[in-house]
This record gives sequence, C-alpha cells and structure tokens, in this order.
Amino acid sequence: MQRRIAVVAVFVMIALAACASASKPSAGGTTPTPTSSPAPAVTPTAAPSPSMSMSVPSVSPTVAPAPPAPKPAPPAASTKPISCTGEIAQTRPVASGTGPGGSLVSTGSPAVALTFDDGPDPINTPKILDELKQCGVKATFCVVGFRARDNPEMITRIAAEGHTLCNHSWQHLFDLAKRDDAYIRKDLENTNKMILRAAPGARVAYFRAPGGNFTTKLVKIASELGMNSIYWHVDPRDWESAKFGKGTVMVNHIIAAVERDVRPGSIVLSHDNGKPDTIVAYRTLLPWLKARYTLIALPDAPPSPAPGAPLP
Ligand SMILES: [Zn+2]
Repeated sequence: MQRRIAVVAVFVMIALAACASASKPSAGGTTPTPTSSPAPAVTPTAAPSPSMSMSVPSVSPTVAPAPPAPKPAPPAASTKPISCTGEIAQTRPVASGTGPGGSLVSTGSPAVALTFDDGPDPINTPKILDELKQCGVKATFCVVGFRARDNPEMITRIAAEGHTLCNHSWQHLFDLAKRDDAYIRKDLENTNKMILRAAPGARVAYFRAPGGNFTTKLVKIASELGMNSIYWHVDPRDWESAKFGKGTVMVNHIIAAVERDVRPGSIVLSHDNGKPDTIVAYRTLLPWLKARYTLIALPDAPPSPAPGAPLP
C-alpha cells in the first residue's frame, strides 16, 4: 500500500511541475504586446481632417525633427481632387455688396474670379501661370508698375495666355489716396504705360488700390482712366505670415480660408509676388475650385458700370 501511495504521489508531483513550467512562457510573452499595439494607433488619430495629411509635424511637438515634415505637402495636395463633389456651389449664397469707395467685390455672375497681386515676380509668377495653364484656368493679375517695367516678359506672358491685367499702382503706396489728384493720375497712367509696353494689345480695364485702400476719389480717377476698381470678397491673408506662419501651416491656412469663404461670384484675392506658399496652396485649390465653380478672368473690356455696380 505504501508503495502505491508513494507512486501516486510521485505522479501528482510530476503533473504539477509540468503545469507550472507550461504556464511560465505564456506569462512572459504578454509583456511586449501592450507597448507595441497602442503605439501605431496614436498616429492615425492625429490626422483628423481630410485636408490635413500633414499630421506628422503636429504629432511630434517636442523632439520631432521638423525638417522631413514639409515634404509630404505637395504630394498630398496633388491627390486632393479625388474628394471633389461640386455640391457646395449650389448651397452657398451669391457674393454681394461693395468694397470701400464703391469698389467691386463680386463678378456679378456665379463665376468666381481669381486675382493675383503685387507681381510680376520672375520666380513665382511663372509658377502660378504654369498651374493655371495645367488646369485650363484664366485669372486676373494686378501688377505693380515698376515690377512690370523690370519684368516685361512676365506681362507679355500673362497677356499671351489669356489672363486679364489689372493696374495695382506704380509702387504700391498704401496711402495713394492721400496724394493729390495729379499725382494719382500720373501714377496710374505710368503703370498702364508700362503694362502696355510689354503687352501692346492688352487693355487694362481694372484697378486695385494698394492694400485695398480705396476711396471714392481713387475709384473716380480710375474710372476716368477707363478702369473699374476691384476690391475682393475672399481674402485668405496669404501675406500675414506673422499670424499664420510659413510653409505647410500657411499653405493649409490659405486652402482652408478660400474653401471656407468662396461663394458664387466671389473675387478672390491672393498674391503671387514673393509668396511661394500661395503657389503651393493653389495646387490644391485650383482643382477644388474648378470642380465647384466657373473660374474666369475678369472680362478685358467691361461696359464701364457705375462704381459698385456688378460686373457683366
Ligand atoms: Zn498689393
């Protein structure tokens, strides 16, 4: 009997030992899984909005080496047209009202007019012209007189590619309206002369005051020189890098602001002179806008409406 009990006891001990050893590896194996699985889950949640494919910089706030972050911007922008639906154009009210001095803010039709100011810039103007050509879009360029003098080939190209030219004064004086009438008239005339020297067949039918600082006097003088004064309805403030930053953040800001504010009939203000972020933003904006709106260059020869009246 004692032998049998001893044998049974030995078997029981062997069995217990086997269970214990079998459970050890499984307990140790659980350690790596908790740390590895949550980590990748963080990255996707950091990219909330569809347009923000640039989530990488914001995810890594402290140590993150920012340099690789800006690079994803252009490819992300070029893939955006996939989301075009065209529904927004029908649901937004038409742009209306007038700007300072009775200047125009809208095209007077459902068509949207893109305007690019302060050039021509030998570096950035060709880039926006290339983008516009790729998308088959015509726009309006409000050029500064002395830059037209310095870059006549850009003026020639703007006109040759079917865009509209607009007078943005000779040297962009923000207080132009405070000068006497003769000064203002000479300033605008000299600018037109320089534009027409580079593009002899063009007609300069529009004027935009520097900074949009129109007064009734400025609008009147421009009108006497055969130009309609255009303000804007949409302003993404692409010049305000102190507030909106530079690079990817500015690009995303410009895209978001234009997509948010544009309406049928909007005149959209942007800048080509020294504004590379604007050029990048329009890689995304052009297909987005084109899918929703008719985009036009302001007509070369509008029938000179009274100040504040809608364009044809
Ligand atoms: Zn300007």
